[in-house]
Amino acid sequence: MATVLPAGLSEEAVTKAIDAFADALGAENVITDAQALREFRDPYAYKASDEWDASAAVMPTTTEQVQAVVRIANEYGVPLWTIGQGRNNTYGGAAPRVRGSVIVNLRNMNRVLEVNEDLCYAVVEPGVRWFDLHDALEAAGGRCWPSIPDLGWGSVVGNTLEYGRGYTPYGDHATNVCGMEVVLPDGEVLRTGMGGQTGNTAWHVYQHSYGPSLDRLFMQSNFGIVTQMGVWVMPRPEVYAACGATWQGEEALEAVVETLRGLMLEGIVRNYPVMGRGIAAGMDAKPFIDPTDETWRLRFALYGRQAIVDAHWAIAEEALGAIPGVEVFCHQMQGTDRHKEARGHDEQVQCGIPEMDLMDLFKTPFGEDTGHLDFSPVGPLTGKDVVETYRLVRRLYDRHGWPYLGGLLLSPRSVIHVTTTFFDPNDEERTREVYAAYDEMVLELAKVAKVPYRTNIHHMDLVADQLDFNDHIQRRVNERLKDALDPNGIIQPGKQGIWPANRR
Ligand code: ADP
Repeated sequence: MATVLPAGLSEEAVTKAIDAFADALGAENVITDAQALREFRDPYAYKASDEWDASAAVMPTTTEQVQAVVRIANEYGVPLWTIGQGRNNTYGGAAPRVRGSVIVNLRNMNRVLEVNEDLCYAVVEPGVRWFDLHDALEAAGGRCWPSIPDLGWGSVVGNTLEYGRGYTPYGDHATNVCGMEVVLPDGEVLRTGMGGQTGNTAWHVYQHSYGPSLDRLFMQSNFGIVTQMGVWVMPRPEVYAACGATWQGEEALEAVVETLRGLMLEGIVRNYPVMGRGIAAGMDAKPFIDPTDETWRLRFALYGRQAIVDAHWAIAEEALGAIPGVEVFCHQMQGTDRHKEARGHDEQVQCGIPEMDLMDLFKTPFGEDTGHLDFSPVGPLTGKDVVETYRLVRRLYDRHGWPYLGGLLLSPRSVIHVTTTFFDPNDEERTREVYAAYDEMVLELAKVAKVPYRTNIHHMDLVADQLDFNDHIQRRVNERLKDALDPNGIIQPGKQGIWPANRR
């Protein structure tokens, strides 16, 4: 029996749905025990709050079982919330947007279905973690590297659907998706792209469709449950060079951005660099947080044949080294030696070796329970805009007496300004202050027409509200799609501020 009910549902309906889930999946794959459900709480919400609790969790292992779950949810009107691993702690972890939703926990759908070393792709189920993808690629021969985010425990599919980032040349994960299988809100199965034809062997190598490309409809959305995803992986380079630069002050920051953009657009730097202050992942040293350290640190990497890496490093070294106050450095290794040679988080993460170093780091401010809330608006990659946005965000933290701890995720044309605040979620007052400060930041950034690229369950409506063009046309179109695909409003209601008709 469920102890938490979703708004608008009777205890009888939820109980019947839970019985039906148990019939379809086996009772051992349906969790209703309140203590066991604590695992799916938002780990960084105020600890005593029950605002984001789930009523149950179900653990399907096949696409057919996901279909069964969706059909049962439709029958009883039960809202579902899908997780791959649910490790996205700063965005709410496994917790649902709507209290009392049933968690569709896909951690047991954890097979790497295919690795193709010649065509450099893998096909994964939604519970496959970065650790698992890495291991599967190594087991297949080690000729391909995954692009991974900072922590290896999350799912490939969850991160990718959320526009998560990694740090190799394949680091914009959403753009390296090729062919998905999706259970639609009515329980039908869709295969996107060339998967539309039974047996088509171009499904995971040709990204487009005959007709509209549907893949993106399932990213940061609530239009279906992804049960398989093709992901492109990079061929192991002959040489990998982990490079970096340090400097102090905003003048050099502006010049570094301008120089780096040129190097990225020209194809000299092909990966997704990070620069930041206050938090350092470290090349040799353990990662550290030091709000008083005004040093800026940049990391980027080069890949390819020896002659190419040498030439690219010479160009990058000269260009960045010419900026007053900038120190540059580089550690080269053979691609085949990366497990032996890559030191520390910065070097490992740029060559696809997953680990958990940053998790330990993020527990240092307040111990085991330490929470952090990331704020991550997007802007153009120009020196002027980067410095202005940095100053603005820093002022917003200053208002609360909090330090600016930032890591800027760079692409050739854009930058995601990720900054974070640490807090103790056992401290109600402080926790509320942090979440309220986030509201304030969203509104302040909206004044300069910027929004976060992704947000946590607490702020999804607020961020959606900022997309105001033509009377919120994006929301209105999303709602039309939602109502057409999911008339009973059962898949992740409220995600990204997209509400089904029955909950608007
Ligand atoms: P991670 O595995 O990186 O911790 P999550 O499992 O928390 O990521 O997934 C992040 C978000 O992506 C979830 O909150 C959910 O909205 C969405 N999501 C995850 N997996 C799926 C899926 N298989 N189908 C549809 N949406 C998903």
